[in-house]
Amino acid sequence: MSSEPAPAPGDLIATAPLRGRAVQTLRDEVLERLITAVAIGEYAPGERFPSERELAATLGVGRVTVRAAIARLVERGLLRSQRGRGGGTFVVEPQSPNARGLVDQALTQAWERLLDQHEAECWLHGAIAAAAAERHTVADARFLSEQLEAYRTAASGAPAREADGALHLAIAAAAHTPTLSEVLLSLERRMHITAPVHPWGQSSGWRELESRSLQDHERLIAAILARDVVEAHEIGRRHARINMELLENARRRARGESPAGAAEGDRLASRQRLS
Ligand SMILES: [Zn+2]
Repeated sequence: MSSEPAPAPGDLIATAPLRGRAVQTLRDEVLERLITAVAIGEYAPGERFPSERELAATLGVGRVTVRAAIARLVERGLLRSQRGRGGGTFVVEPQSPNARGLVDQALTQAWERLLDQHEAECWLHGAIAAAAAERHTVADARFLSEQLEAYRTAASGAPAREADGALHLAIAAAAHTPTLSEVLLSLERRMHITAPVHPWGQSSGWRELESRSLQDHERLIAAILARDVVEAHEIGRRHARINMELLENARRRARGESPAGAAEGDRLASRQRLS
């Protein structure tokens, strides 16, 4: 209110560190998002990282903040910059202890929030699949089958990842509940720089991820087309857990532990089916 007295010089000094901390928090947040994106495979090793301008627009922050974060990632060996023609910033698989330490630190700091976001993402995918099972039209059914076929025939890596994104957008469209889709998309934009395309893990795990996703997609589309709301919800929710596993594996790798294999994923899945 206007009746508030003007701050004394001592008060200004007292509030200055708070302002400093707010800037620091934003820088840390941008740094954590870029590190997480590299660690969980939103960008493949060797792939060009988005420009400062693109990242500033996507994250809604200033280019200075983005530049500082990129410089840190280059310095710690998660990105490498290349000058000249065809130059830019490229993704490196985080293997050096220096790079792994940075990943571990960033994931540990954000861990509770990341887990909570991933859990919410799973439930929203379940809800959208359930809505699609109940509300899809004949035209949606045809389009869903086409998108499933496009995923089945896509080449490994970036094409499969794009086809996966397109399939999930088709499921969201078939749910005919725009608000639900918007909530999921806005959550995914907070989690993944490349949303609505999902992270794809480390290149050594692509084949396994792709065949497991194909099985999930086949069962998911079958349940939706059969208008089996309960089954579609369960498969949709469980399929989205792959993102959480990528996150957990990124943390294990950063700590020098071996990632949980498909066998463990299957055990988890069968336990969920039994319960
Ligand atoms: Zn998928």
